[in-house]
Amino acid sequence: MGAAYGYPHPDPSHRVGAADGEGAAMPAQVLSGREAAAALEAEVAARVASLAGLGKRVGLATLLVGDDQASQVYVRNKHAAAERAGMASFDLTLPADATQDRVLSVVADLNADPRVDGMIVQLPLPGGLDGTAAVRAVDPAKDADGLHPYNLGLLMLGEPGPRPATPSGILRLLQHYGIDPAGRRAVVVGRSFLVGRPLAVMLGLKGVDATVVAAHSRTPDLAGITRTADLLIVAAGRPGLVGADGVQPGAVVVDVGTNRSDEGLVGDVDFDEVAAVAGAITPVPGGVGPMTIASLLANTVAAAERAAPAAG
Ligand code: NAP
Repeated sequence: MGAAYGYPHPDPSHRVGAADGEGAAMPAQVLSGREAAAALEAEVAARVASLAGLGKRVGLATLLVGDDQASQVYVRNKHAAAERAGMASFDLTLPADATQDRVLSVVADLNADPRVDGMIVQLPLPGGLDGTAAVRAVDPAKDADGLHPYNLGLLMLGEPGPRPATPSGILRLLQHYGIDPAGRRAVVVGRSFLVGRPLAVMLGLKGVDATVVAAHSRTPDLAGITRTADLLIVAAGRPGLVGADGVQPGAVVVDVGTNRSDEGLVGDVDFDEVAAVAGAITPVPGGVGPMTIASLLANTVAAAERAAPAAG
């Protein structure tokens, strides 16, 4: 895994909630994505400044199609973070009734625009449009989300490349808190191409070295499986899917779920119940979300460094 991408190098000197249940009697440590993302953003900002010193302004572009409110918030947050890091940001929007050809032609324009180092097609696209075709149209060298099939292929090969932002944000969050996946039994709930499937692959790569179980909606006795995890990552989009009975005492629990409810954003994990059992847990909001954005920025600055190798 290339240094330019800044992937975690496991540090076995720090362990939280190890497999033997250590820490079970203590309240769970809250793993703040805001804190870890601030550290990563600062590192990205330094790299952006160093490129600026060479006359290169790093640029991130987003393409939002339609007026879905949640997507608008995500895109706004990405631009705010890009600007904090000193990047130029380009905010393109198309109406919900845009044609597939129009979407592909905007992506082609961004591919050709030398001011754009990284780009994001905000998924999902409105009904009738093919989101994966739009992602396939992105130049793999500008793929800030790390979701282009070429880059997913590099991941399968274990070769350097931009990794999917949410899974790499999760690994960076663990690294920030000194939690080493090596040797742990990791259970990943969810197998989407966006989160669960690439995360399961990344956890099992040489150098990360978790032993991985990939669970999904057809997994029998889900709680029985999740209870075997000393690292449990839940990305299902089902509020309350995992309660205390699904968690091994002392386990590290990462809640990727982002679900809108009457109480605001909630995860897939019952936080109060599970925090009483787990060794460490991520909150929602303020857990994985900020790390996803910081990882998009890291992919973008790495793309700019590749284009201007003298800066590396
Ligand atoms: P998705 O495409 O809907 O995939 C959900 C996955 O969860 C599927 O693989 C599904 O299994 C599995 N699943 C659904 N219900 C289940 C159940 N009852 N038991 C076990 N597995 C179940 O969703 P996604 O895009 O991966 O997102 C998952 C969640 O993460 C959502 O809440 C999303 O908003 C959130 N998210 C957060 C961030 C962030 O930055 N914080 C980023 C991306 C996504 P099948 O494959 O069998 O259908």
